[in-house]
Amino acid sequence: MRSYDLIVLGGGSGGLAAAQRAAEYGARVVVFEPSRLGGTCVNVGCVPKKVMWNAAHLAHTLREAAAYGFQIDVHSHDWSALKRGRDAYVARLNEFYRVNLESKSIDWVRSSASFQAPREIQDEAGETYHGEHVLIATGAFPTVPDLPGADLGMTSDGFFDLEDLPQRVAVVGSGYIAIELGGVLQALGCAVTQFIRYETILRDFDEMLGRYLIEQMRAHGTDFVTGAVPARLEAAEALSLTTEDGRCVAGFDRVLWAIGRTPNTASIGLRDAGVETDASGNVTVDRWQNSSAAGVYAIGDVTGQAQLTPVAIAAGRRLADRIFGDQNDCHLSYENIPTVVFSHPPVGTVGLTEQEARKQYAENELKIYTSEFVPLYNALTIEKPKTAMKLITVGADERIVGCHVVGPGADEMLQGFAVAVAMGARKRDFDDTVAIHPTSAEELVTMR
Ligand SMILES: Cc1cc2nc3c(=O)[nH]c(=O)nc-3n(C[C@H](O)[C@H](O)[C@H](O)COP(=O)(O)OP(=O)(O)OC[C@H]3O[C@@H](n4cnc5c(N)ncnc54)[C@H](O)[C@@H]3O)c2cc1C
Repeated sequence: MRSYDLIVLGGGSGGLAAAQRAAEYGARVVVFEPSRLGGTCVNVGCVPKKVMWNAAHLAHTLREAAAYGFQIDVHSHDWSALKRGRDAYVARLNEFYRVNLESKSIDWVRSSASFQAPREIQDEAGETYHGEHVLIATGAFPTVPDLPGADLGMTSDGFFDLEDLPQRVAVVGSGYIAIELGGVLQALGCAVTQFIRYETILRDFDEMLGRYLIEQMRAHGTDFVTGAVPARLEAAEALSLTTEDGRCVAGFDRVLWAIGRTPNTASIGLRDAGVETDASGNVTVDRWQNSSAAGVYAIGDVTGQAQLTPVAIAAGRRLADRIFGDQNDCHLSYENIPTVVFSHPPVGTVGLTEQEARKQYAENELKIYTSEFVPLYNALTIEKPKTAMKLITVGADERIVGCHVVGPGADEMLQGFAVAVAMGARKRDFDDTVAIHPTSAEELVTMR
């Protein structure tokens, strides 16, 4: 049996970050990854998604260019050329990660792994490995609903395999992945029908964001079927989706399920390891990422907490700092995690939503500032979409506990404001900051 200081299950964002940090402290590390290095983010998540968003953003810009005096005839868009460029970039990243592991003398076993005992791991060939410490970083996969015909649809993984732009797509879901991928398809020329369970989208976000965004998505041509719970999917000449209340919408080339993600925990022998999961299968961890079994930890999507790449990376690095770097209390705070939805326009957000703030604080403790305006960029365009912003403050000194923006530039705007919120900025700190003019961001330091 081979022995390591750290065994990592999963070569995605979190697993690779933890492995590399541990190796920098001199730990002997092995990573088990059966698929391409980089995990969801690099292969079927953030990175290829952002490439597609860039293309969609260009499509919107090209449509608006005439307002700025350009005379451009766009004849077509070559989806497969875009995919080739994207795939080549992802392949370069895969190789970059491989070289990184090699340069840090981290072993990579190209196999999935499962527990035989708490710190004993077996690969697909039956070889066993002992780890002083074992990290579960196996991530999650897209959930497919349990209903007739569901396998006729695709998931976000399938979206990235598409060789051509479909003509008519049904997107089922209202979370950020559904909104982002639907937005890309729509911008590049596909007719998109979005099936959502309630009346609005992005329900985990501040209520204002979904309200403004859905309006703009409708203006761009996305059709929303609201109050829709899918019951079955059928294929004739095209796909048709029937909802539980009997509505049937037909004529789709593709149906995209974007209804959530399921943790990769069902087949890794957690019971043999004494590792507990919650009802949804997420590994339960304490604030130091310890699982219920001594010496076994979990980070990233497999824990079901804030499923974002920088969160998995930060948790992994802090765990390695704690175990191998003698930083005994090192752990990630899951408060004030900023995030962006790469929609059109994008959404940027950090801190409490208004709904959360109203649950946590008394009415008289809260003061909420909002602003809506047409950005200067749209002064010349035919469409006049509104940017919306919200600051949520608490207490007499108006500590900012939430900052939310929907509008062009929100994606790049929020990182700096997230630093201020994490540092405990007060509204007067924002007011004392000189504005950068003319920008949309300046509105956040001039709100009254
Ligand atoms: C479409 C999409 C868009 C996204 N966009 C963003 C974004 O813009 N920004 C952002 O921050 N996040 C985004 N995310 C989320 C982000 O990709 C994840 O939060 C992140 O990848 C989680 O990292 P992880 O290390 O926990 O898991 P993963 O990156 O999923 O890595 C897990 C790895 O474990 C491997 N594995 C599974 N089972 C085993 C086993 N038994 N043994 C060994 N290995 C195993 C898998 O093959 C996988 O490579 C997006 C996700 C999706 C799906």
